[in-house]
Amino acid sequence: MNSSLLVNKATNTQSAIRLPVIGANWKLHKDLAETESFFEKFRSLVDDFGYCEVVICPPFLDIATAVSAAEQTTIHIGAQNLYWENDGAFTGEVSGEMIKASGCSHVIVGHSERRRYFGETDETVLKKLVAALEAGLTPIVCIGESERKNVESVLEKQFRCGIAPLSAEQFAKLIIAYEPIWAIGAGKTATPEIAAAAHRLIRGHVTKHLGAQAANQVRIIYGGSVKPDNAQSLMAQEEIDGFLVGGASLDAVSFAALVNLYKSEEKSESRINQSCNYV
Ligand code: PEP
Repeated sequence: MNSSLLVNKATNTQSAIRLPVIGANWKLHKDLAETESFFEKFRSLVDDFGYCEVVICPPFLDIATAVSAAEQTTIHIGAQNLYWENDGAFTGEVSGEMIKASGCSHVIVGHSERRRYFGETDETVLKKLVAALEAGLTPIVCIGESERKNVESVLEKQFRCGIAPLSAEQFAKLIIAYEPIWAIGAGKTATPEIAAAAHRLIRGHVTKHLGAQAANQVRIIYGGSVKPDNAQSLMAQEEIDGFLVGGASLDAVSFAALVNLYKSEEKSESRINQSCNYV
């Protein structure tokens, strides 16, 4: 589901209602049996997904199991990576078309671990984004600085080289994940103020390259040691449109607790009320 642009008929102004996204990045964790038992438990703990878009990204080999476990629900399944060619002599690679055909709707692109351990660059990220979009997938593209310095220049370069060359139409389908590397798996999360400031910076780049409407609509989610006990203050920031969650997404109870925060969250309620008033 994409964010929607609603028109206030009384004033003829436009207001973006960004549906929150909460993604689970399982990385290199869980076999088939563990995937099945996660879904069995998770489904029993979360009964209403209408308040946010839930995307679970297991390892490739678990995707078929996850897709069938998510049947009859609104849980989306995503991959953690793709290759930009559709077929050919590329041993070990998986294309966007294959991922789409396996039942996925989303794919993570440019995660910092891919950049750090597998040599991904802004240039390959851009190629992967284009391939994902051509395959009909929603990319969750990750950007973020490795240390708490040069934040502005790192984000500017990652945005300019890896994302900005997309057309406005392509860009409209993206989700951006701001993931400061110093916070990933580190147990120390960015403060809500630090995260919101980085999100504002990114949204500013979107405004500059693609205009205010694109900036209003794009969902920018935060990732880096998000857990049920620190998520509430982050989600209270208007700039933060959801989370990409690593460690805390492996446990059905803690991931369900995160999803359920959106169910009771006032911001979601007001968004939904606002949407009712406007349409
Ligand atoms: C991630 O890897 O995308 C991530 C945010 O991990 P963690 O939540 O464990 O920091």
